[in-house]
Amino acid sequence: MPDIYDYDLFVIGAGSGGVRASRVAASHGAKVAVAEEHRVGGTCVIRGCVPKKMLIYGAHFAEDLEDAKNFGWTIENPKFDWPTLRDNVLNDVDRLNGLYTNTLDNHGVEVILERATLVGPHEIELSGGRTVTAKYILIATGARPHLPDCAGNELGITSNEAFHLDKLPERILIAGGGYIANEFAGIFNEFGVKVTIMTRSDQMLRQYDESLRERLLHISMLKGIDFRFNAEFKGIEKKGDCLVVSMTNHEDIETDCVMYATGRVPNTEGLGLDVAGVELGDAGEIVVDRFSKTNVDHIYAVGDVTNRVQLTPVAIREGQAFADTVFGGAPTAVDHNCVPSAVFSHPPLAGVGLTEKEARTQYGSVKVYESDFRPMKNVLAGRDERSLYKMVCEENSGKILGIHMIGPDAAEIMQAAAVAVKAGLTKADFDATVAIHPTMAEELVLLK
Ligand code: NDP
Repeated sequence: MPDIYDYDLFVIGAGSGGVRASRVAASHGAKVAVAEEHRVGGTCVIRGCVPKKMLIYGAHFAEDLEDAKNFGWTIENPKFDWPTLRDNVLNDVDRLNGLYTNTLDNHGVEVILERATLVGPHEIELSGGRTVTAKYILIATGARPHLPDCAGNELGITSNEAFHLDKLPERILIAGGGYIANEFAGIFNEFGVKVTIMTRSDQMLRQYDESLRERLLHISMLKGIDFRFNAEFKGIEKKGDCLVVSMTNHEDIETDCVMYATGRVPNTEGLGLDVAGVELGDAGEIVVDRFSKTNVDHIYAVGDVTNRVQLTPVAIREGQAFADTVFGGAPTAVDHNCVPSAVFSHPPLAGVGLTEKEARTQYGSVKVYESDFRPMKNVLAGRDERSLYKMVCEENSGKILGIHMIGPDAAEIMQAAAVAVKAGLTKADFDATVAIHPTMAEELVLLK
């Protein structure tokens, strides 16, 4: 009997979630096509986590070169050349884009580099003019930067453009106090750009433990980053080569570049979701159940477009679980609890589980163990920058509710610690583990 649909699965968006879902569905035997209007790889690979991390590495040399002196190295006149780093990073993005495309090809997934729009429950119209049909549809269109609503907002850039700057500005004003603001503030500051962060409230990185947030703020200020809290845009004006930004509660500021890092908005507009009857939430996100299914039985959504946890590894898990559920005969719901995360600031911070405040709210009294120390490398380098590790435990059982850390390699160390927290281990389990000496990570098994 001939198939009544052109495809078993049509995926809109070839980012982290869409690529994983396409590949796994195809390996389960489905006939799959994926449409992408920009570049295969999505935000993470093309203009997010991956190129950002390369910039972080590049930026960190500024400190390493300075610290090297106390370790006996003489490095004369070190110079930084932005176009070299930028182009090397962009070349690597091209390489990864090719790898992702090859992976899809190798799994027999048809890649369609066009915009796709739903025009019926099972019908998808491609910008090239073709209309195709699919039994199942997966929306994995991600999110885009939110732009503040103020006069002159078109004068600013977002992280999308930051990777392509012709030259570094002398001064930059970054709006927002979240991941992107803190990561790019660190990057630009290490490159010698004068950085100011403005946030609408008196807090940054709200979801992280307060002690870590305070430590990052303190270190960032020592490194020369300025902060303007409780500041909302009133307007941005161009004056000669400069931009003048007016904001609430503060004097105007003159800068060379304004960058918005004020959250990301799910990409749901103009996709024909209304035609297909797909329900949206208040933030414009696609509402899904535990299996990433929308209110329409054959339409699913994964990743940032669902605004659950906007992290690449979560989108990948959602894509995998979707494919296993629908095409692999193994219904799988993604567990969004206890997801570890990190901010690649200078220094980085990372957390898993409940913050101290959340734990106290949920459990009443809890036990908190802390280590506040100067890493050995910083001591010899003469760098007055302290790390902070914190473990939050249930009072009676000692079960670990959360681990939080700021300091060199925090994200690397956290990945292993997160396994223990996810597995429900206790403080006693950590105490029973012998330290690896001398390391920073050993502080985790020596907490008092
Ligand atoms: P975040 O959600 O981390 O931070 C947004 C910041 O912008 C907050 O300070 C928030 O303030 C502020 N904000 C939100 N809405 C407005 C508004 N309307 N006007 C002014 N300020 C506003 O978002 P990012 O843009 O930094 O990053 C987007 C997402 O991408 C993150 O949530 C994260 O999931 C992901 N990401 C992850 C990274 C990683 O894993 N290392 C790196 C980069 C991004 P308030 O606190 O008051 O709400």
